[in-house]
Amino acid sequence: MSFVFPPPATVSVPIVGSQERFPVHRIYCVGRNYEDHAKEMGFTGREPPFFFLKPADAIVAVPAGTMGSLPYPSLTKSLHHEIELVVAIGTGGKDILAADAHKHIYGYAVGLDMTRRDLQGEMKKQGRPWCIGKAFEHSAPIGAITPVAQAGDISQAEIHLQVNGQDRQRSHVSKLIWSIAETIEHLSAAWELQPGDLIYTGTPEGVAAVVKGDILVGGVAGLGTLSLQVI
Ligand code: MN
Repeated sequence: MSFVFPPPATVSVPIVGSQERFPVHRIYCVGRNYEDHAKEMGFTGREPPFFFLKPADAIVAVPAGTMGSLPYPSLTKSLHHEIELVVAIGTGGKDILAADAHKHIYGYAVGLDMTRRDLQGEMKKQGRPWCIGKAFEHSAPIGAITPVAQAGDISQAEIHLQVNGQDRQRSHVSKLIWSIAETIEHLSAAWELQPGDLIYTGTPEGVAAVVKGDILVGGVAGLGTLSLQVI
């Protein structure tokens, strides 16, 4: 087969302890999945989970022990960090029950759902799609994926983000409103999950803006850290 121009390279993420890489299919994100973050965004009460997507090529894959670069995006004056646990799907499926969700997980990583908050806010106000606020280039930094067997039980793990050495976000995965398993059940009712899908599971409270030069270090206990400089 020939193409009218060279097809784009497959987006992929390094894997802890392996030379092989994880090829990315889609990036799903869960909105408002920690109570104190929902509150800081002006919402209360448990609502059904809702989802948005980022394009696979929004990934900025940062190998363990290195400092990645995050280009400051256009049009915004309020680029927010959202530190998140990322679930990497290894086995696809439709209508997956929460009880079976673990069978579909390849591993976990630390990710950032970078957000042009001012543009997202404007779209919310107008009832328009969030794409311009969420789905831009470099909006999905991610660290190396730790396979499930090495990660152990991350359901209670601490999740944190420092900017220039100062704490901005610190919480626990146990505070997810919709657990990883429940999220997979809801998500797979709406889309057929595929190997290579990534799920950014939502951010705890403390989201705020970064500027050029800032150094972000995020982590989830058991999964190492993700380090980036805004350039
Ligand atoms: Mn998010």
